[in-house]
Amino acid sequence: MCVDFSVMPSSLQVKTTESCTELQLPREVRLEPSSCRGLQFVPGEGLHLRLKAHAEFSPKSISVFNQNIQAQECTFYCQSCGEIIIRDRKLLRVLPLPSENWGALVGEWCCHPDPFANKSLHPQVSDCFIGDSFFLVNLRSDLWQPMPELALMETHCHALEGDIKLKPKANTKVICKRCKVMLGETVSSETTRFYMTEIIIQPSERDFSIIPRSQFVQSVIARILVELTSSRSTFRFTIQGHDGKVYILLWLLNCDSLVIDSLKNSRKIQRSIQKFPLLEDLLKADAGSPCSTVKVLYVPCIKNRNEKLASSWENDISVHSLTLPSATCLELLLILTRSNFTLPSSLRSMDSFQVAFLKM
Ligand SMILES: [Zn+2]
Repeated sequence: MCVDFSVMPSSLQVKTTESCTELQLPREVRLEPSSCRGLQFVPGEGLHLRLKAHAEFSPKSISVFNQNIQAQECTFYCQSCGEIIIRDRKLLRVLPLPSENWGALVGEWCCHPDPFANKSLHPQVSDCFIGDSFFLVNLRSDLWQPMPELALMETHCHALEGDIKLKPKANTKVICKRCKVMLGETVSSETTRFYMTEIIIQPSERDFSIIPRSQFVQSVIARILVELTSSRSTFRFTIQGHDGKVYILLWLLNCDSLVIDSLKNSRKIQRSIQKFPLLEDLLKADAGSPCSTVKVLYVPCIKNRNEKLASSWENDISVHSLTLPSATCLELLLILTRSNFTLPSSLRSMDSFQVAFLKM
């Protein structure tokens, strides 16, 4: 079969004797036709080629430290259902927490015993401290009581003080009273940590807007990965559930990919994954427009898979561990798997890792 292929700055065209398919690119993207290399037809997949592209695309601010919540009346919502968790709280100090190894660093640098040893950072009512994957807030003055187990937790909270990274306990879970999703954990009688993947904090005067769950989860994870990579030069991550189990090993390859799903492909994919209603809305929203993404390699560790690799990563100090509710770890795995399935089969894996894109 003879295929005529042409590249224009704003479109790609494939012509055969029977048909002509044209792929229009979004306005923000321009191709350099003369840079086209490696054109080949891969049976079962289609045409592969490499060429230079220019994108006039400025991704929105990617900071997780959402400064616009500072000094404003803010409301905390459950991301899944919109239930108000904390109403109208003025946050005067919105500050990043030091990294988990800060104690060790102080030990290295101080010639006297670490003055901060066994002292933890407990936010005051107008504080919001920001960790890798969570917000730390004071819940003392709020009428909102996360759940009946709160009273039980108080009995062992003293043992927990002085350590923000807690060994999770079943009865420290903070659960949305409306949709029963786990939002965070109580750290002490006054301090609660809410996971970034479960909570939306925004100025009170704004209405809560529902973001499809999978879209929210992947953009939060992508932003966390980018932020940690730039601030700590960490590229490898273990995604760990609040139950302490490792669910996924993630390797960030790059942060500047742009993915364009053509409408046609999206429809095709949508038909084939109707069994996962969680992911459907996402496809509709994305089709056609360019999207900033991070490219990752991953391996699942559920059901004791890849145990050896997981334990070597866990013992490697250059690997950063991110803790999320276990259900969210599984959601993330589903999102990665779905992204992996949309790639041509020859591009789906690298060595023993799977390839996926997370959209910001
Ligand atoms: Zn909820």
